[in-house]
Amino acid sequence: MSTEQLTPELQKEFNPWLNADARIEEAATRLGLEDGIKKILKSSSKELTVHIPVLLDDGRIEVFTGYRVQHSVARGPGKGGIRYAPDVNLDEVRALASWMTWKCAVANLPFGGAKGGVICDPNIMSDGELERLTRRYTSEIIDMIGPEKDVPAPDMNTNERTMAWIMDTYSMHKRETTTGVVTGKPINLGGSRGRAEATGRGCLFVTLQALKHLGMVPTQVDVIVQGFGNVGGMAAKLMAKQGIRITCIIEYDGAVYNPKGLDIEKLMAWRKEHGSIRNFPEGETMPSAEALFLKCDVLIPAAKENVITSETAGKINTRILCEGANGPTTAVADKILEDRGIFVIPDILANAGGVTVSYFEWVQDRQGYFWNEQLVNQRLEEIMNESFWDVVHYAQTHKVHNRIAAYMLALDRVAFAIRLRGIYA
Ligand code: GLU
Repeated sequence: MSTEQLTPELQKEFNPWLNADARIEEAATRLGLEDGIKKILKSSSKELTVHIPVLLDDGRIEVFTGYRVQHSVARGPGKGGIRYAPDVNLDEVRALASWMTWKCAVANLPFGGAKGGVICDPNIMSDGELERLTRRYTSEIIDMIGPEKDVPAPDMNTNERTMAWIMDTYSMHKRETTTGVVTGKPINLGGSRGRAEATGRGCLFVTLQALKHLGMVPTQVDVIVQGFGNVGGMAAKLMAKQGIRITCIIEYDGAVYNPKGLDIEKLMAWRKEHGSIRNFPEGETMPSAEALFLKCDVLIPAAKENVITSETAGKINTRILCEGANGPTTAVADKILEDRGIFVIPDILANAGGVTVSYFEWVQDRQGYFWNEQLVNQRLEEIMNESFWDVVHYAQTHKVHNRIAAYMLALDRVAFAIRLRGIYA
């Protein structure tokens, strides 16, 4: 549903920037942050809008609109992905940039937060059109990015091929190969082993810690994953490999349910062949909206924003909510989840695995020395587990739910850096 069709109240509830703001406000108030610092944390530091002319295959010229927003560079260069989607808008990119600041701070990475987006529909664009769009977008934002300034990465509908084009365009402009300008690159172009699986693997690690914390046994729980892309697909695959039962996969066009557990690899092969998970023979196909409310122990929304809302939060039937996506839960829904005693692993913790391995990639590029996959995964596990317990202990000490604990921890770390650096005049 497009946001224009929503009631004014829901439009407000679904605005990602207002959702980010509500959490910052609550965390800042609980921390007793000084007003001036709060003002800084509530604004993005730089916002660029670009209009990108692209020559289409049929000879026409189309002009696309794109954004790059740096929310904060207090703790290090900006960091965050670039998404291509028809409904990208500035408020969304602002919120996503702000979430990157908090995510990097929760994982204690030496980065700030940034995000980019281009309004386009990659499903109807050819490879050539996408390449021309990416290269022109890169050249329009080139003054803003760089290994020490702001380091983009993949996000929705962008991938390692997109990153290779960005790296090449940047390198051609600078007249030197600069692999550290983006992360999520192909492995033989300075990419890191384990990066493609990293977000899903991070979800697995924090879920295992949450189960341990709640005294639940991994092989005895049922998991539902919404979204079967890079995050959800990988999380499901890695969990299934660990003997965790994935009972349902929910996609935008339908869900597949099997209470005995789905064979994720087979489901992936089915989707590849048929273009959809629907009608997978080893499960029951059902409407996505219904599947979200099936009983499970762990629900992983790993698709888009605004899935767990004032309308759905009361109906989900899970013990743990592990937020693989960015911003899947609205601020209004937080209270409902808290009242229902659902254990939330908030997005800025749950999906930090991707940017953590991006950090490893950036380090490896700067060193020119590459790690094996085992080392990447081991270091990822250390950071995810440590961040998980940091958040849980913070929540216990301050008697707040996990999301506000994660925000408090992150705001505190960023505010500390701002005070140390001082206000440049
Ligand atoms: N797009 C991913 C995210 O939202 C990864 C960002 C990065 O690696 O910089 O966390």
